[in-house]
Amino acid sequence: MSQPAAPLSALPSVDTPLMQQYREIKSRHPQTILFFRMGDFYEMFEDDAKLAARELGLTLTSRNNGGAAEVPLAGVPVKAAAEYLRRLIAKGHRVAICEQVEDPRLAKGLVRREVVETLSPGAILADDWLERNRNNFLVAIAPNGDSVGLAALDLTTGEFALEVVPAADLPGALARYEAAELVLPAGTTVPTAPASTATREAWEFDPALAREDLVRTFGLASLDGLGVEPADAPALGAAGALLRYARELKPGGLPHLARPHLVRRGDVLPLDEMTRRNLELVEPLRPGASGVTLLESIDRTLTPMGARLLRRWILAPLVDPAAISERLNAVEVLTGDARGRDRLREQLDGVRDLERLASRAAMGRATPRELGSLRDSMRRLPDVLAALDAVTGRDRAGLLEHAADELDPLTDLADELERALIERPPAQASEGDSIRPGFDPELDELRDARDGGKQYIASLQTRERERTGIASLKVGYNRVFGYYLEVTRSNLAQVPGDYERRQTLTGAERFVTPELKQYEAKVLGAEDRIAVREAELLDGLRRRIGEAVARVQRTAAALARLDVWAGLADVAQRERYVRPEVNDGYLLLLEGSRHPVVERMMPREVFIPNDVRLDDAGRVIVLTGPNMAGKSTLLRQVGLCVLLAQIGSFVPARRAVIGVVDRLFTRVGASDNLVRGQSTFMVEMSETSAILHGATARSLVLLDEIGRGTSTYDGVAIAWAVTECLHNQLGCKTIFATHYHELTQLTESLANVRNWNVAVREAGEEIVFLHRVEPGGADRSYGIHVGRLAGLPAPVVARAWQVLALLEAGHHVAGRPVPPLPDASQLGLFGGEAGPHPLLAELAQLDLNAVTPMEALTRLAAWQQQLKEDE
Ligand code: ADP
Ligand code: MG
Repeated sequence: MSQPAAPLSALPSVDTPLMQQYREIKSRHPQTILFFRMGDFYEMFEDDAKLAARELGLTLTSRNNGGAAEVPLAGVPVKAAAEYLRRLIAKGHRVAICEQVEDPRLAKGLVRREVVETLSPGAILADDWLERNRNNFLVAIAPNGDSVGLAALDLTTGEFALEVVPAADLPGALARYEAAELVLPAGTTVPTAPASTATREAWEFDPALAREDLVRTFGLASLDGLGVEPADAPALGAAGALLRYARELKPGGLPHLARPHLVRRGDVLPLDEMTRRNLELVEPLRPGASGVTLLESIDRTLTPMGARLLRRWILAPLVDPAAISERLNAVEVLTGDARGRDRLREQLDGVRDLERLASRAAMGRATPRELGSLRDSMRRLPDVLAALDAVTGRDRAGLLEHAADELDPLTDLADELERALIERPPAQASEGDSIRPGFDPELDELRDARDGGKQYIASLQTRERERTGIASLKVGYNRVFGYYLEVTRSNLAQVPGDYERRQTLTGAERFVTPELKQYEAKVLGAEDRIAVREAELLDGLRRRIGEAVARVQRTAAALARLDVWAGLADVAQRERYVRPEVNDGYLLLLEGSRHPVVERMMPREVFIPNDVRLDDAGRVIVLTGPNMAGKSTLLRQVGLCVLLAQIGSFVPARRAVIGVVDRLFTRVGASDNLVRGQSTFMVEMSETSAILHGATARSLVLLDEIGRGTSTYDGVAIAWAVTECLHNQLGCKTIFATHYHELTQLTESLANVRNWNVAVREAGEEIVFLHRVEPGGADRSYGIHVGRLAGLPAPVVARAWQVLALLEAGHHVAGRPVPPLPDASQLGLFGGEAGPHPLLAELAQLDLNAVTPMEALTRLAAWQQQLKEDE
């Protein structure tokens, strides 16, 4: 083992039989790390070993492969494997678990080995590796000209969706599913793929093959029943490859797959990645920040199914006013009856993850404890139904009625689990005694035999003490020798002839008798058979649930919807949201609207509500105001209110009229978006260009300081041209927040542009932010005020006022002498006789036309820092 690993090229062509077996299995699992079971270890060889050593910090050793050849090797103990697996999967790897599938003691020659399962980011089934509040989608795509077929499957819940999206919308669609892993045809690339991708041969994406597969898998006569149309062919192709891949990963079968559901174009509002990020819908812009997302602000769900559904709804708002109104009806009824809602929520609160638990049961993986959770959750269902029945005005919301119809109380399953399982089943089947006495006569008999045998053995102690006269004689048990009679050394003389010696200890000897052996065999035999029988019975329960999994899934889905509606109603009532009027019109009107997240971060009375109106006559709002006035907040507030309305939620406003939008774009100028670490002007411009290509008259475009990533003149020029295009050609509703007050002149040439500004009041050199929107443009930028507020030294502020005055008077600043400031020496700005401070020279040379406001601020900050250090 001390020899260094031989390079692969130097390996002899003849492998040992073990390595032959390894290579044969490995060749069938490309792009996958193979955990090769050898006794108490999973071993990895060659490149896998090197990779695992690097990723997991394992020691790389080597194994003799016949002759002098050595193969790199790394291993993990089976007992600790779960943690290593979790880490590899978290890093995006795929790992195949290859087990010994026969008893090594019985094997003739090499033990047979087989891959029993493959784990990957999209194929995790271990409950504690998953976030309970989000789906884990495995997504396959099949590009087909201008469109892409897409199939998404959550193996943990069985949810399965198909759709065809325009190629340009693919990144948005992948983001909507938050794909954990992507399957795509060899040779294809995707701009924003998740970390983990698997490539498959092109033929696997063949729609005709997929058609047969789907018909067989779901026992259908044809795919018509699913609503599949000819144009869905690419989605079928994707589904075929996806199913094949999923079965490869889980050879044990996927009995819990739900029938695929078709998502149609026009069903959902496409949201691109930047919009999702800038509006902080489900993830914070700053990783790790908490309480800042829309999801966090409105999530009052009580079940994991509800939490997952709400997240999905936020990422996929609706566009059909009728569909939106139906959801709003449900929320309205639940908002109106606070007591009914509370009772419903109380019942929902006890329901666990019915969906994932049922899937785990169907796949034969649920532990006794999980089966117990399933039982307890099912027991609540009649109460959920009763609470729903008691909601006043329930009949006014068709969707609530529908949910009540779909909600199957599953009493047959609950009863069966009830009869079978003890009240608190153990975490693992191996702990035994999961099954209630009286459920299975065979198990009861075996248990009687075991208990009778144990009792008999226990009584043996008394009888043997009497027979031998050894008062200290004991009956005991250990795993190696089984039951024994123990006699201390001093009493050995009294041991009868029928005792057989088994074990010698320092102070005592251990014996068995034929009678003891006979009862021991009975007890141990019964125990083995009890374990087998319990396992059979548990399997039977899992099968029963597996057979009914579609019913459980339908019920789980109905619960999820109820949970979301009740949660939204709760927010609506407590946070004073209003039901929006949602229609097909153009008008977007928000009266007294608030930002759903920002208002929660501050005491209620401090957040200033604002009115916003976008209509045919005023399609474009140019929103000006100094930094910190509240422009970005208002912009996002409008986006979030529209989005909330379109998922079917009430909105934080006094009144809202929302003409549904077909697209929602939110862009933030580069320097406001430093968090992305990619603040190039190029990115900003290509994002803007995507809007100009994708927006229609029915879209809503929110632009925040676009053009900021370049110099002032360029920035204003680009902003100007973009606004003209949105106004003249696209006609979409637009809000453009900018601190370039030059843009307010746009109203002079564009009929449907309106100027608004976020008001500030000036009191001498002070400014007060009113956070109130009013008509008209901001007349000045107040940048120097903000600089002062931010703590710039007084001389710098004073000089800035001077420079501003020079610039406004049309003078060139560079080369002009810097007038000495009266109090400068006190501040230590000037170094005695040594002439002006170098910072002033720098300031004098700064070409204000060539820097962005952000750069200016950054520079000011650096100067301030330097001044502090000089002191
Ligand atoms: P801008 O984009 O104009 O620089 P922001 O929208 O970033 O300004 O707002 C700056 C700060 O002002 C926010 O962090 C928020 O705390 C506060 N603010 C914004 N709008 C309001 C409002 N309507 N009511 C109260 N405070 C607000
Ligand atoms: Mg801003």
